Amino acid sequence: MPHLVHYIYIVSAALFILSLKWMNSPATARRGVFAGETGMLLAVTGTLVGQHVFNWQWVFAAFLIGTAIGIPIAYIMPMTAVPQRTALSHACGALAAALVGTAEYYRETPHGFTMVALVIETLLGFLTFTGSLMAMGKLQEVLPQRPITYRNQNLVNLLLFGIAAALGVRLMVVPTDTWIFPIFAGLALVFGVLLIIPIGGADMPTVIALLNSYAGLSACAMGFALDNKLLVIAGALDGSSGLILSIIMCKAMNRSFTNVLFGAFGQLQVAAGKTEQRPVRSASAEEAAAILDAASSVIIVPGYGLAVAQAQHKIRELSDNLTRRGVEVKFAIHPVAGRMPGHMNVLLAEADVPYDKLVEMDEINSEFAQCDVALVIGANDVTNPAARSDKGSPIYGMPILDVDRARTVMVIKRSMSPGFAGIDNELYYMEKTLMLFGDAKAFVSDIVKELPARVAA
Ligand code: NDP
Repeated sequence: MPHLVHYIYIVSAALFILSLKWMNSPATARRGVFAGETGMLLAVTGTLVGQHVFNWQWVFAAFLIGTAIGIPIAYIMPMTAVPQRTALSHACGALAAALVGTAEYYRETPHGFTMVALVIETLLGFLTFTGSLMAMGKLQEVLPQRPITYRNQNLVNLLLFGIAAALGVRLMVVPTDTWIFPIFAGLALVFGVLLIIPIGGADMPTVIALLNSYAGLSACAMGFALDNKLLVIAGALDGSSGLILSIIMCKAMNRSFTNVLFGAFGQLQVAAGKTEQRPVRSASAEEAAAILDAASSVIIVPGYGLAVAQAQHKIRELSDNLTRRGVEVKFAIHPVAGRMPGHMNVLLAEADVPYDKLVEMDEINSEFAQCDVALVIGANDVTNPAARSDKGSPIYGMPILDVDRARTVMVIKRSMSPGFAGIDNELYYMEKTLMLFGDAKAFVSDIVKELPARVAA
């Protein structure tokens, strides 16, 4: 039986690794998710088969409760709320690791290397639990999004962490000092809260990726504490991929990684939200359809508004229609368009937009200058030229899609309201730009309706 468990674990670990690899591309992402799910199913089955289970009723009850909560959450939560849902998952995972560590401590009072791993597991687990709950609260706006700061905050945080770490070291050396453990755990829980409160809502998705990494490292330490190799592998994969993701997000949003890492000075960017009262040129769906019909190349630039309006199926219809007319259509994908990494890929995949039409930012940017029409749908910050030229702008330095280099720019949005960064967009006032005011789904639908009419005419 132990041999069988080892084989199951090896297959499971291989599936986790393949899952991450396949999730790198929209074309193989579904396979990646399936591989991850199968790996997890094998891991749980293998563990249950390999251990002497004292009480199957408890296992079954936990399975039922988990399923009863997990499935409705997956269905009910809108795609735009995925960052906070992810934070909740991390909170639960980290709490599980911390509680397993706590139970092991009081049951066995381990010594030596096992105790070192257990201290790391519980420290990271508890602080990630409260930190993730805070991050979720900020994103869901049940907690204030603005950074909460006070004098000597970093010093207080450092001191608190230092005391928790010192107590942890004491526990490693003298594990029988059981009175220390509750204080150590309590400090870790408080530190998780203090770590997140000075960070503004704008930085929260990056912080969530980082907390993902902490939860993974906690699980990895749990693997050492329990001598479970699969947990070590899965935790290390989770820890490193979370870290890599947060670094990629920092780069794409031009945030300093060290600020996020040390939970210090994140700025809330949903600022005044004031836009200038300057004239813009607007157009109707009929006019937009005429321009698209006359174009030979169109680049569609989707953003957060596309997700809000759930316009992905309509856009697919528009893209198919234009392609049938001989127009070359491509989609420009910015790494942080929307509200979570890969948001646009997920939406467009849901509408079965062919993967070869989705072109990443670095590749498509050189094509804007040759394209007839850039059709921006619910995107704002990721197209703002201020990121290239205005040193005073909060998004200065963030890589953007060079939409302003297209011959004609059309922007579908409901008003002149700003996007996530809360700033005006010079693109809207350019000579070549036409504003198409309306809800993304309704407006695209109107354009599609106008297109066949023009063919018949
Ligand atoms: P933005 O948030 O900059 O802009 C979205 C625009 O969509 C708004 O200006 C809004 O204008 C418009 N909009 C909203 N609802 C609709 C609707 N129903 N129909 C039509 N338009 C609509 O989005 P981007 O995708 O350009 O940029 C993403 C921003 O989010 C960046 O600043 C990025 O840094 C940030 N971010 C991204 C994360 C990620 O992982 N992807 C994580 C955290 C932050 P109006 O109200 O006038 O309609």
